[in-house]
Amino acid sequence: MSSLALYRTYRPGRFADVVGQEHVTVPLMRALANDRVHHAYLFSGPRGCGKTSSARILARSLNCEKGPTDEPCGQCQSCLDLAPNGPGNIDVVELDAATHGLVDDARDLREKAHFAPVSSRFKIYIIDEAHQLGPGAANALLKLIEEPPAHLKFIFATTAPDKIIGTIRSRTHHYPFRLIPTKTLQQNLGWICEQEGVPIEPAALALVARAGAGSARDAQSILGQLIAGAGDDGVTYDLAVALLGFTDAAMLDQVVEAISAGDGRSVYAAVDQVMDAGHDPRRFLTDLLERFRDLIVLRAAPDAVAEGLLDLPPEQAERMAIQAARFGPSDLVRLAAVVDEGITAMKGATPTRLQLELVCARLLLPGAEDTVSGVQARLDRVERRLTGGEPLPPAAAPVAQPAPAPVAETLSGVSKRAAAFARVNPPADAPPTAPAATPAPEAAPSVPSAGPAPAEPSAEVVPLRPEPVDDEPASMVEPPAAAEPPAAPEP
Ligand SMILES: [Zn+2]
Repeated sequence: MSSLALYRTYRPGRFADVVGQEHVTVPLMRALANDRVHHAYLFSGPRGCGKTSSARILARSLNCEKGPTDEPCGQCQSCLDLAPNGPGNIDVVELDAATHGLVDDARDLREKAHFAPVSSRFKIYIIDEAHQLGPGAANALLKLIEEPPAHLKFIFATTAPDKIIGTIRSRTHHYPFRLIPTKTLQQNLGWICEQEGVPIEPAALALVARAGAGSARDAQSILGQLIAGAGDDGVTYDLAVALLGFTDAAMLDQVVEAISAGDGRSVYAAVDQVMDAGHDPRRFLTDLLERFRDLIVLRAAPDAVAEGLLDLPPEQAERMAIQAARFGPSDLVRLAAVVDEGITAMKGATPTRLQLELVCARLLLPGAEDTVSGVQARLDRVERRLTGGEPLPPAAAPVAQPAPAPVAETLSGVSKRAAAFARVNPPADAPPTAPAATPAPEAAPSVPSAGPAPAEPSAEVVPLRPEPVDDEPASMVEPPAAAEPPAAPEP
């Protein structure tokens, strides 16, 4: 491996090699091939996604002796000068507006711009961080851009295109660069590892791509660091997790499975591990939020992995499909919202163990929330218990009674489902007040015999266990239950 940073070694020298920006590079290549080149360009987009590299490639393509061309020949003097890590060319000037607003440079530039290029076809100015141009410099440049000499080209690069003064922006062709999709980044990183002859585990590759957050430069920097610290077996998942501070997938499995089982001890044990290992609680919650997001997608689209919506190794996908089936859809949305609020609450302050534990407490206790989502999460659980896994389809819940009077308007959807609940669980079989009054599980079967109208429980009815979390929806059952017997008489 060379001592040069990876992102410099693998900086693209032609548009075809720019990663993940085809929506920009393809039209640019067409414009070059058809010789419809404008005199001023604006490249905008997040940092590290290829703006400056593309500006240099455009300059190289324009000044190639066989050009202007969409494929610089790579042989002529201009191409060699302007190659990535090449010495540069006197006719291609790079200016950084961030340094001093470019006031002096712009005046100087205005004087020099009228002279013809020394050895190339065009004189090209690449102005980086162009949104930081001071008003004086911008006005000096504006004169040139309004009436440019034929040999002059401008390429502005910026992360904030809306801060460029309108009179300049409106005279440019604007090409917005985007964050690079994780999958594209992953392929690029895998290719680099091949070139470097370093083995890397696919799971580690996925982590690096995720850590790059859409920036090729960031991702390649991280990969360079991992390769530098890799042993004989190359870049392993364990190495990447430890160095990047991500939460191990096994830890997330433990937490999610514990939440689905209401197992507080395991959840707090995981919190203990996170804090003991010196991890950032915010990082842990962010990873947990991503996990819930994946589960929401899996819940809605069980074929998500096969269809490429989720990028997961097969065994992890299998485990997560089981996890997703343990939650109802509104359950998952509520959990994700709680974690999201927790992350927001931690912003600005030093996140503490206490904050993390409070979030976990809310995750474990849907019954503690009297919001609509809390009620829905509890109904999800009841429905899954009744139907053996799958929530009731909405069509199975016709409402016979005229008005759900005591229930608030916003809860009408909930009350319909409560009515369906009452139908499969008739009042004679399980009086609404019974579970709350029953202290122990073994006491529950004795309740029907004590009731005024004993009836055989139907086969699919599962009696409510008197957990504090689950018996509360019983109060929702009361109003429809009163109108129920004529609608669904027992055989
Ligand atoms: Zn050339």
